[in-house]
Amino acid sequence: MPNASAKPNIVVDSPLSDSLRRMLSERCELLPWSATEQGTHESVTGIYTFGHPHLDGSMMDHFPELKVISNFGVGVDHINVADAISRDIPVGNTPGVLDGATADMAFALLMAAGRKVVAGDRYARSREFTVYDPGYMLGREIHSQTLGIIGLGRIGYQIARRAIGFDMRVMYHNRHRHENAEQQIGVQYATFDELLQQSDYVVISVPLNDETRGMIDAIALNQMKSTAILINIGRGPLVDTEAITTALQQKRIYAAALDVTDPEPLPRDHPLLALDNVTLTPHLGSATEQTRHRMAELSIENLMCGLTDKALIHEVTP
Ligand code: NAP
Repeated sequence: MPNASAKPNIVVDSPLSDSLRRMLSERCELLPWSATEQGTHESVTGIYTFGHPHLDGSMMDHFPELKVISNFGVGVDHINVADAISRDIPVGNTPGVLDGATADMAFALLMAAGRKVVAGDRYARSREFTVYDPGYMLGREIHSQTLGIIGLGRIGYQIARRAIGFDMRVMYHNRHRHENAEQQIGVQYATFDELLQQSDYVVISVPLNDETRGMIDAIALNQMKSTAILINIGRGPLVDTEAITTALQQKRIYAAALDVTDPEPLPRDHPLLALDNVTLTPHLGSATEQTRHRMAELSIENLMCGLTDKALIHEVTP
């Protein structure tokens, strides 16, 4: 007889943060990913993805009783959602709770790249800084400039609100017009090409899929102003790594600020890492204590709903 009070078995990737492991362990038995990649595991009813492990149908098929996949985060490009749907397995994610933190980070990168915050910090600490010079380290204005947002969704909308507070003109490009945003905060719709040609700052915040992979390639970069700055807060493969490296080496654009790269991390000897006109952060978009806690709560709620045959709070749709 199965023990009615037994905790459900779920597979998790690692390393989980200590607090997340504690929260999950209170409700489930955690099985390591590596131990379940072979054979069939009838006892497993859930998969929890934390650090973007690749998950497709071949992995799902090790678990004939699988009821739910729950992802810590909104981006699910590492999960083959079509494979899950064709097996009737709902996939949960955590939209909404991370918009503010991710928009803050996009704006921090925008300001850091425009105003040379990271290079300034290095210089201020260095032996070379012996005298103030009004002629050094001039950056680019932020207020009064034009920001182009590719992907005015939940995060993009929050980025736009911040930009308007900075007296920026905001353009956006989506596949569909966001008329509410146009009316509520005065953003202007642009075609992809118009946005690239007219923006002083271009932020990309679309999901990664077959349509958006490599969206910012050499052709797109060539359309941007030579004074423009590119910020990638979405996913690394949205930007062609070779093309952005060449554009920055040749100073085709002024600078880039990348929270995400392709591959992630870049090889330690990658030429991009040697450039002064790029600011890099290690995928910190939603990385605040408060937001990560909300993501933990929502992803565990999704997981528990799926394990108890209820509708998920947030289910990914194709
Ligand atoms: P969202 O609400 O779905 O917004 C995505 C926007 O992109 C939508 O407005 C959509 O509008 C637009 N879009 C989709 N495909 C497009 C295309 N082919 N061309 C132009 N626009 C397109 O998603 P979100 O919650 O804002 O999250 C966006 C992405 O940010 C996530 O998928 C994730 O990968 C990334 N993210 C990164 C971090 C980080 O740590 N750096 C943190 C959180 C999220 P239309 O449908 O009208 O085209």
